[in-house]
Amino acid sequence: MQPIVHLNKVSKSFGVYEVLKEVSLNIHKGEIYGLLGPSGSGKTTMIKLMIGLERPSAGEVTVKGERLKAKELYPSIGYMAQSDALYNELTAKENLSFMASLYGMRKAERNQQIEKVMITVDLLEHLNKPVHQFSGGMKRRLSLAIALLHEPDILFLDEPTVGIDPVLRKDIWDGFHQLKEEGRTLIITTHVMDEAERCDRLGLLQHGEIISSDTPEAIKSQYGVTSIEDVFLKNGGVSVEN
Ligand code: ADP
Ligand code: MG
Repeated sequence: MQPIVHLNKVSKSFGVYEVLKEVSLNIHKGEIYGLLGPSGSGKTTMIKLMIGLERPSAGEVTVKGERLKAKELYPSIGYMAQSDALYNELTAKENLSFMASLYGMRKAERNQQIEKVMITVDLLEHLNKPVHQFSGGMKRRLSLAIALLHEPDILFLDEPTVGIDPVLRKDIWDGFHQLKEEGRTLIITTHVMDEAERCDRLGLLQHGEIISSDTPEAIKSQYGVTSIEDVFLKNGGVSVEN
């Protein structure tokens, strides 16, 4: 089966600093693939390379066999950046409507979808509030709602649950699993251990390399540890950010 996301010996340098060193990776349709690694290990850079926001210094990145261009809107792709890209002076609904119009959604479909995604992130009652009144966690949830709006097949989510309380985080992860059941693919960066455990497979990033790409269970048994966090502690003494 052809992988949905394919990285072939991808390197990325910023000036003389090499963030990623010949990283090869395949992600398949319908998986929840987690990218896990210490702060500064290159998780965001990897996501940006996948969606075409960064170009590799060497190697090749394809999504569905295609090299993505950052400036294009792809109906099948959803992206949530690590820092929220929201219009603070606009309401949640206006932010969502703006994105929906970019995707060419009709008005009836638009309103239906907006309601649906706002229920998913538990923000429906705040629909008409200006975003500058939102807390950090609420902004994260709105960004997630925007990424889900056009029902993409592939979701790239960079730290989607930062600042979100554990109860809601669990609901959101249940939502991710539901999306997976629908056959969608999710690529999610996280530094939260219980989230890592809920991924089908994990890519562990350290010192510019993927040191493991496997199921959480297989990785733990490979390193002889009981928690994923211990893999990093065992492997060079770098702790995962928190
Ligand atoms: P993570 O998301 O895992 O915390 P990043 O991908 O954001 O890591 O960053 C990896 C490394 O690359 C960091 O050392 C960061 O400072 C550096 N970096 C990221 N983007 C740039 C950039 N545009 N210019 C220079 N250095 C960058
Ligand atoms: Mg990051």
